[in-house]
Amino acid sequence: MNPIRIVLTLIFVWIAWFLIRNYLMKQRHDTQSTNAANQGAKGSSRGSANGKGGSNKKIPLKIVKCRLCEVHLPENAAVKFGNDWFCGQPHKQAWLEKH
Ligand SMILES: [Zn+2]
Repeated sequence: MNPIRIVLTLIFVWIAWFLIRNYLMKQRHDTQSTNAANQGAKGSSRGSANGKGGSNKKIPLKIVKCRLCEVHLPENAAVKFGNDWFCGQPHKQAWLEKH
């Protein structure tokens, strides 16, 4: 096998491993910060204590479904009530009136 190909393969594997590891670490961090946000101020110190500020900017948002009209929308644009999500206050209220 050509030595250059071996080097290229190693570099490729290294980059792939780096990206996968980065992705997994980011995902774990997202889960933690999402949980912390759901639990209110309890876990708020953990995010800032991480030191690597700025990594929070590109959190892939969790997609939730409106309980009333079943539209899918990102968590930060949705209204939460208990375990249910709504696309907005009007739908939350409309659903609450029915139940
Ligand atoms: Zn809705």
